[in-house]
Amino acid sequence: MKFDAPQFRDETEARRYIEALRWPGGRVCPKCGVIGAEYETKREGRYRCGAKECRKDFTVTTGTVMEATHIKLTVWVMAFYLMASSKKGMSAHQLHRTLDVTYKSAWFLCHRIRLAMANGGLVGPLGGSGQVVEADETYFGRVSNPETRSRTTGQPYKNKKNQRGPANKRAVVALVERGGQARVFHVAEADRVTVEKIVLKNVDPASRLHTDESNLYKRVGAEFASHESVKHTAGEYVRGDVHNNSAENFFSVFKRGMTGTYQHCDEKHLHRYVSEFEFRFNTRTKLGYTDTQRAQRAIEGAEGKRLTYRRTNEVEQQSV
Ligand SMILES: [Zn+2]
Repeated sequence: MKFDAPQFRDETEARRYIEALRWPGGRVCPKCGVIGAEYETKREGRYRCGAKECRKDFTVTTGTVMEATHIKLTVWVMAFYLMASSKKGMSAHQLHRTLDVTYKSAWFLCHRIRLAMANGGLVGPLGGSGQVVEADETYFGRVSNPETRSRTTGQPYKNKKNQRGPANKRAVVALVERGGQARVFHVAEADRVTVEKIVLKNVDPASRLHTDESNLYKRVGAEFASHESVKHTAGEYVRGDVHNNSAENFFSVFKRGMTGTYQHCDEKHLHRYVSEFEFRFNTRTKLGYTDTQRAQRAIEGAEGKRLTYRRTNEVEQQSV
């Protein structure tokens, strides 16, 4: 998709584009849920619900992350496209320069689009009979309050220098279905109890679990059809079809994005960035998505996740 496509240039076209994604089967009143009973008002793009008891006015942005902004819909559509197609993410500064909007607008666009990309947790377990799910954890950056963190109890994988996963770094746990979806979590501490909970809650017990030799997974591994691990300390990364490469691939893109694009991310927002990378991973080209389709998926996710101006503003102030 080039930026000369009509939805990027014309406000009416942008509105129709978003409407088609949000309401493929006819316009739905966001207040009462009635379908196709609305009529047009004098203002373009504003509808009034025809249900007797309702009569609510709404637009395509009502009840979405786009609600109550003065940002043009063409800009929204472009921002969705840019964030969906940039492998390492897109900072507010980049968006501000590329779209020629104020930095403040760019900042809100970024946060709201990230929210649209968050899956909302309404998905079933990963894996299943005969399927491989890889579990792995990584550490990067610095935590904001290292003095309050204890050492991890389950010893994470030791590297060649025999160091443990450091307690003063941010921990991220990833579960990746081989050839499929990922679910990724920022945790305060990647200790055994935390990791076990995440694995049990998100992975189908009929799956084969693949990990490295970390003690974090030894106990929980028994809950699955099988638990196989490669021994990184012994230089073993692949044994037959046993490996952690899908999780490693996710971490590699994630870390490059976090250091290259979002180097100043406050730890309390990290889960938002994690969602963003998870979204792009789960709609990656290998799974058949084009950049355009990925952007459309994000726009579809905009519904029902309203982030108010005040809430984002508070978030911003806290992070200073
Ligand atoms: Zn209604």
